[in-house]
Amino acid sequence: LKLDNAMFQNNGPIISGNAKVVLERRYLRKNDQGDPIETPTDMFRRVAHHVAQAEMRYGGSETAAEMEAIFYSMMTEFRFLPNSPTLMNAGRRLGQLAACFVLPVEDSMEGIFDALKHAAIIHKSGGGTGFSFSRLRPKNSRVGTTGGVASGPVSFMKVFNTATEQVKQGGTRRGANMAILRVDHPDILEFIQCKEKDSDLNNFNISVGITDAFMDALKKGSDYDLIDPREKRITKKLSSIEVFDTLVYHAWKNGDPGIVFLDRINRDNPTPALGEIESTNPCGEQPLLPMESCNLGSVNLAKFVMEKEGAAVIDFEGLSQTIYHAIRFLDDVIDMSLYPIPEIERMVKGNRKIGLGVMGFADMLYQLEIPYNSEKGIETAETLMKFFQDTAHDASRALAETRGTFENFEQSVYKDREGCAYRNATTTTIAPTGTLSIIAGCSSGIEPLFALSFTRTIMDNDEMIEVNPVFEATARTRGFYSLELMKMIARKGGIQGLGNIPEDVKRVFVTAHDITPEWHVRMQAAFQKYTDNAVSKTVNLHRNAEVADVIKVYNLAYDLGCKGVTIYRDGSKDRQVLSVNKNE
Ligand code: UDP
Repeated sequence: LKLDNAMFQNNGPIISGNAKVVLERRYLRKNDQGDPIETPTDMFRRVAHHVAQAEMRYGGSETAAEMEAIFYSMMTEFRFLPNSPTLMNAGRRLGQLAACFVLPVEDSMEGIFDALKHAAIIHKSGGGTGFSFSRLRPKNSRVGTTGGVASGPVSFMKVFNTATEQVKQGGTRRGANMAILRVDHPDILEFIQCKEKDSDLNNFNISVGITDAFMDALKKGSDYDLIDPREKRITKKLSSIEVFDTLVYHAWKNGDPGIVFLDRINRDNPTPALGEIESTNPCGEQPLLPMESCNLGSVNLAKFVMEKEGAAVIDFEGLSQTIYHAIRFLDDVIDMSLYPIPEIERMVKGNRKIGLGVMGFADMLYQLEIPYNSEKGIETAETLMKFFQDTAHDASRALAETRGTFENFEQSVYKDREGCAYRNATTTTIAPTGTLSIIAGCSSGIEPLFALSFTRTIMDNDEMIEVNPVFEATARTRGFYSLELMKMIARKGGIQGLGNIPEDVKRVFVTAHDITPEWHVRMQAAFQKYTDNAVSKTVNLHRNAEVADVIKVYNLAYDLGCKGVTIYRDGSKDRQVLSVNKNE
């Protein structure tokens, strides 16, 4: 790139060992031999330069250069990162910058295989795909043209799963899928059980699309109707309690299926005139219309704590500035992205949905000395996210003043609402930030930390203890730091029950398993209250949690206004990525 260092406020990011490995494997440009030919600094320059080119059409080259420098420093200081496909593909041949897509699956052979083809193209570029299989006729119903019988949604999901398996070998990263089936589809029981064996449908997350009618039936303990989507007729009735019990049992057993509250999601659909929302992206945080895609970005809250009169407080002013720039960045991404198919380009440019969210929330709470599982923790989340959402809306409205509202604005729910002339149909989403948080070196999304210290095996099987920096600083100032203690904590994950640590420290430095499911759900609901789209969150349960605990979680999530819920009971999957040895 032609720009010299003097234009930028710093000389490049400080990258941790883990982040370096991740970036080298998947993000940096490589030569034919597979060796990286750019540094992380080059990568951020490539992204900042490419995205800022959108500014040329709104403000000319001077504005573009100015915004490029701002984008670069905001990323290299890890205050903000865009979703992975933007980091990987901006300014490169693939050029596809969004993480989330939803594709329609029509009830015809052509429709099904069109969706499969589009999914393959999207996976190749690092995007994830969500599908509703609810439009497909049920298993064993008649196929008009052949006189044969239909094989039903679950059998087609297996075709999608196999295709994903093959594409992921050559793509930028693992293709992820979400399959949703409405609870009133005649094949719902088969769907609920389809991931029974761990290896089945391994490239899919599955969620049952729960309706208000179903929840009403469940509250009354009555039967509800199953409807054939093609013939639009009631095929039979099922007991809502039996279906719910089966669902909950399977979620308890191995984490799948999750649930999404479809009617609630559609009450927040900003453009109902353009269609109904049937599905979300793979991790559930982004409900979208069929053929819509959305690019996400996350602000690292760990960078927005400052000292005021000797106390740690949230830096709202700094946060506000970063939110304005991040919203502008994401709006620019829409213009600069290449789209896998023309229909998607039309939908995306018509609604201009973006999803700005947060990561490093648990880090922020540690710094503020506020326990995640406390009333104060919930209050902090609500105050913070309300501010975040209001500012994001202000930023989108400010963009509309110079760039115009989104094309479909006149067909949106905002057209008659005062003060809602936005550039973007949605602005906020809380993503899991699985890789972004590694790159930025912060806690992921709004999740609590999994462990305060852990053992990492490095070359020659040497073991190294990595301690959360805020916890380490506290341990040192409070005088209880020792390597032995850190090693013990690495074996246990948390510090509850350890004798030689002060009570107030134990209260603040909680980890995922110290937090009861109720607090997990309440935190998700606190963020959902001020998020346009949805919130990615896993409700962790202890290994010995019972089915009744899962029922409580699902009911609470519904009552508190969540748009969906995903649970994970420790040890319920054969291969668990993160695990803490509880036997010590
Ligand atoms: N995603 C995907 N494959 C992956 C990880 C993520 O397709 O291996 C998509 C998926 O739609 C998910 C979204 O990216 O919901 C955001 O995930 P995350 O925030 O973890 O991604 P990051 O930007 O941190 O890589």
